[in-house]
Amino acid sequence: MTRTPNGSCQKPGKFLNEIESKQLLKQAGLTVTEPFLANSDSEAVAIACSLGYPVVLKVVSPDIIHKSDAGCVITRLTDPEGVRHAYNNMMSNLRQNYPEVAIDGISVQSQAPRGVEVIIGMIRDIQFGPAIMFGLGGVWVELLKDFSLRIAPLYEEDASEMIHELKGFKLLQGYRGQPAADTEIIEDWLLKVSELVMLNPSIKELDINPVFVYPNGAVAVDARVLLEDTPLIA
Ligand code: ADP
Ligand code: MG
Repeated sequence: MTRTPNGSCQKPGKFLNEIESKQLLKQAGLTVTEPFLANSDSEAVAIACSLGYPVVLKVVSPDIIHKSDAGCVITRLTDPEGVRHAYNNMMSNLRQNYPEVAIDGISVQSQAPRGVEVIIGMIRDIQFGPAIMFGLGGVWVELLKDFSLRIAPLYEEDASEMIHELKGFKLLQGYRGQPAADTEIIEDWLLKVSELVMLNPSIKELDINPVFVYPNGAVAVDARVLLEDTPLIA
C-alpha cells in the first residue's frame, strides 16, 4: 500500500471516482445524486443552475479517497455566489495543502434531503467470495461495530435478515416520532448490489456511504468502487 497526500491508503487496483462509481450504481438500478464535473467556477455555477439549488461541491481526484477529511466536500450551497465562492475556496485549499495531488475537477450534485443514514459495502474475500455488508451510518458501524455480513449471492431472506439483525434496527422502524424508513428499498438494493458484484468479478470493493433512506425510497449520496486492474464485463 502507498500513502496518498491526504493520509489515506492507496490499495492495489484502481478506484473509480464518485462520478464513475455512481454511474455503475445507476446502471444497476440504484438512485444516486448524480455528480457533474466542473473545471471552472462558471461551469460549476452553470451546472448548479441547471440542477436547481441546494447543491454540494466535491473534489474529483484519483489521489483523494476520503474527500471530507481533506476539506473537499461543501454542502448546502443555495445560490450562484455561494457556488463560485466554494469552488474557488476548495481549489485554493487544494493548491495550498495538497499541491502534488492530481485534480480532475470539482463535481456539482444536488443536495439530498436528510434521511436515515445507512451504508452498503462489499469486500471480495479470496476464499469466500464477495461479502456484502450493511449497517447504519456514522458511529453505528465505526464505533459500535453494528453491521451485518453475508456472502453473495444474496436471496430475499438474506437481505431481510441483514436488516433485522442490526442492533440499531429500531432506528429504521421510526424512532421518537420519526417515520419508518423504507426497508423494502434497502432489501431491493442489497439484492441489486449482490447481482452487480456477482456479474462483475473485477469489482474488488464497493462502498456506498452514506445512503439516505426515506419513508419512501432512498438515494446514494456517495460511492466508491475499487476495481481489479482488469476491465468490467458489464
Ligand atoms: P467522503 O469522501 O468524505 O466520504 P461524502 O461524499 O460521503 O465524502 O460526503 C461527506 C458527507 O457529506 C456525507 O456523509 C453526507 O452527510 C454529506 N453529503 C455528501 N453528498 C451529499 C449530497 N449530495 N446531499 C446531501 N448530503 C451530502
Ligand atoms: Mg462518503
